[in-house]
Amino acid sequence: MAHVNPSERTQRVPPSGIRRFFELAEEMDDVISLGVGEPDFTAPWSAREAAIDSLERGRTSYTANRGMAELREAIATTVDEQYDLDYDPDEEIIVTAGASEAIDVAFRALLDPGDRVAVAQPAYISYVPGVIFAGGDPVRVPTREEDAFKLTVDTLEAHDAGEADVLVLCYPNNPTGAIMTREELAPIAAFARENDLTVLSDEIYAELTYGRDHTSIATLPGMRERTVVFNGFSKAYAMTGLRLGYALAPPETIRAMNRIHQYSLLSAPTTAQYAALDALEHADDAVAEMRTQYDRRRRFVLSRFAEMGIDCFEAEGAFYVFPESPWPDAEAFAEALLDETGVAVVPGDVFGAGGEGHLRVSYATGLEDLREAMARIEAFVE
Ligand code: PMP
Repeated sequence: MAHVNPSERTQRVPPSGIRRFFELAEEMDDVISLGVGEPDFTAPWSAREAAIDSLERGRTSYTANRGMAELREAIATTVDEQYDLDYDPDEEIIVTAGASEAIDVAFRALLDPGDRVAVAQPAYISYVPGVIFAGGDPVRVPTREEDAFKLTVDTLEAHDAGEADVLVLCYPNNPTGAIMTREELAPIAAFARENDLTVLSDEIYAELTYGRDHTSIATLPGMRERTVVFNGFSKAYAMTGLRLGYALAPPETIRAMNRIHQYSLLSAPTTAQYAALDALEHADDAVAEMRTQYDRRRRFVLSRFAEMGIDCFEAEGAFYVFPESPWPDAEAFAEALLDETGVAVVPGDVFGAGGEGHLRVSYATGLEDLREAMARIEAFVE
């Protein structure tokens, strides 16, 4: 008999729907996984070397709670150059164990019990659980394929998002690959100002846009003071296993986040911070090369779905496409596809409201495997 009673909050959150597909796929042979949300590339060599070098020099202690000063300075310089985001390295940046920790800590730092958090969906799977664990109340706001999965004020109004305290955005979007331009973000920013919403903007795919530059909502008028921006090293630098990310926000928000972070984590992994510092200083070419490869794959996958007559929204960012499921029940389709062809994709429902009837197909996989996977999907659909 167990003598531990898990909290009601943990009971409210089901296990990750993506994991279930991984587990199924792991039991099979000859599987091509288009299910994963991580780069198939390895971290740039110079970043790995910097990590090794830091170990050789015996840099095995904690760092400052908010991260190494040199790293925060490099982050401040990079986000300013790339996205026009002007943040003070001492007061407005915190380095975390992945964007994941930054997101979790932000919810815990900002939410009081019962605070409402509007989450634009389909979206990355950790926001709703994060809100629940922090005692908040998630409000799912489904975006629509007709709107190219961009959030609109109509949609926000239709779901009473003005009554929420916080709005969570993820552009470039996982799982749809949608992006939002400055013009498209402007009415969302106005809505946030009018309704006094804090915006949590997960921009971890900011480096991965194709043909357009990324715009951060924090750069729109009146938004910097009400926005928390999340980014990290997992996607652009292929550093998922090093677990390093960061948040940018006004001083009082970073102070509140750091209050939790300093007790729950102390500091982000030191070795990873050295790798990240090198990545910011030396990996521009490696990032550009990966972006070129992703774009080639993106166009290939989109053209193959078009040839098959499968409707697929034209993703412009991240490394996912989000085609309509050939069967109305996307989960049944994904399961049958895996069973019969060994190709793993993720049913869109997993990503929340608005994802139904779709499949998330990741192209963070080499072109050769993508070719084979698309051929198998074509044969299966026929
Ligand atoms: N946000 C989004 C949108 C993601 O797709 C992911 C990873 N799949 C994360 C955050 C988590 O990133 P990290 O590895 O930095 O914790």
